[in-house]
Amino acid sequence: MRVLVSGGAGYIGPHTVLALLAAGHEAVIVDDLSNSKASVLNRLESLSGQHIPMHSIDLTDRDKTDQIFAETAFDAVIHFAGFKAVGESVEKPLEYYENNLDSTLSIVRAMRRHDVTKLVFSSSATVYGPRAPLPYSEEWWPLEATNPYGWTKVMNEQVLRDVAPTIPGLKVALLRYFNPIGSHPSGQIGEDPNGIPNNLLPFIAQVAVGRREKLMIFGDDYDTPDGTCLRDYIHVEDLALGHLAALEHLDSMKEPVRAFNLGTGQGVSVFEVLRAFEKAVGRALPYEVAPRRAGDLAESYADPTRAEQELGWKATKSIDDMCADAWRWQRENPMGYPAG
Ligand code: NAD
Ligand code: UDP
Repeated sequence: MRVLVSGGAGYIGPHTVLALLAAGHEAVIVDDLSNSKASVLNRLESLSGQHIPMHSIDLTDRDKTDQIFAETAFDAVIHFAGFKAVGESVEKPLEYYENNLDSTLSIVRAMRRHDVTKLVFSSSATVYGPRAPLPYSEEWWPLEATNPYGWTKVMNEQVLRDVAPTIPGLKVALLRYFNPIGSHPSGQIGEDPNGIPNNLLPFIAQVAVGRREKLMIFGDDYDTPDGTCLRDYIHVEDLALGHLAALEHLDSMKEPVRAFNLGTGQGVSVFEVLRAFEKAVGRALPYEVAPRRAGDLAESYADPTRAEQELGWKATKSIDDMCADAWRWQRENPMGYPAG
C-alpha cells in the first residue's frame, strides 16, 4: 500500500513509517513541522535505505491537502497530525479545536474526492474520561474528556463515526493509544518535545542527561500500591506495529468504523518507571514528591483483548525495554534532533 502519513515527522509517526517500509509498504509524510524538525527525514532515509517523500504543508489547508491527493494515488492514510499538549489546549482551545478538527475534515474530504478508503486515526485513552470503569473497554459509552485536547479526540471520533457510513467503502480504525514511550532501538529516532516536557518519560530522560535538575513526582498519596499513579505505558515500536496490523485489517472489517485500544493492559506506577529508567542509566536519579497535578486520574489501563482477537496484535515489550531504548535515544541525542 502507498500510505499518506500525516504528522509523520513527529514522535510516533517516524516509528510507524519505518514499520510500514519494513513490511513492504510505501510511505509519504505530510507534516507542517509545527512540532517537529525536518532532520528526522535524513535519519529515516538512512535507517531504511529508501527515499521517503515529504510535503511540508498545513493539513488544515483544504486546497493544499487536496493537491497532494491529486498528485499521488494513495491506498490509505494514517492520520497522526494534531496538537497534543493538554495544558496548552486549556490556554489555546480555539487553536486546538481548529487544528485537530480541520486537519481531519480536510483529509476526509480529500479521501472522499480521490477514492481513498482506508483511514487509521490517532485517538487516545483520554476519551474514556473520568467515569469509565477499569480496565478501559472499547464498549464503554459515552465518551467524554476533561480538557480541550481530549475533546478534540472525542469529536474527531464522532465525526468519523458519522461520516464513514456515508462514503462508500470507507473503513476507519480509531486507535486509542495509552501511554507511548521508548524509541527506535537504533537510538536515531525518538521523542523530542519542545520546551519543558509535560510527560513523565521525556522529563526523566532529561533529568538523566543533565538538562533538568530533578523529577517532580506529582503525588504519592493516591489509592494505589505505592501511592503514585498507574499508567499503561506502551513501547512506541509496539504501537507502530499496531498501526500496521490495523491498516492490514481494514479490508476485513465488517463495520465502517471500529475502535481499538493499543495498550499492554498493565498499570505501572511512577516509581516503577523511575526505577526502570535508573536501571537503564545505571545510577539513581534525583526526584522530589510534589503535590498532585490537577486533572490526573489515579489509574488508567487498557483492556487490550479486542486488538489481540481482531487485529492479531499484542504489545510485547517490557517497561525495561522501553526505558533502555528511551535512554539510548536521549544519551545519543541530548538536545533531540539537529535543527533544520
Ligand atoms: P507529535 O506532536 O510528535 O507529532 C504530530 C505531528 O503533527 C508533528 O510533527 C506536527 O508538526 C504535525 N502537525 C500538527 N498539526 C499539523 C497540521 N495542521 N498539518 C500538518 N502537520 C501537523 O505527536 P505524537 O506524539 O507523534 O502523536 C501523534 C498523534 O497521536 C497525535 O494525534 C496525538 O494526539 C496522538 N496521541 C499521542 C499520544 C502520546 O502520548 N504521544 C497519546 C495518545 C494519542
Ligand atoms: N508525572 C510526574 N511528573 C512529571 C510528569 C508526569 O509525576 O513530571 C506523572 C503524572 O502525574 C502521571 C504519570 O506521571 O501520574 C504519567 O504522566 P504523563 O503526563 O506522562 O501521562 P498522562 O498523565 O497524560 O497519562
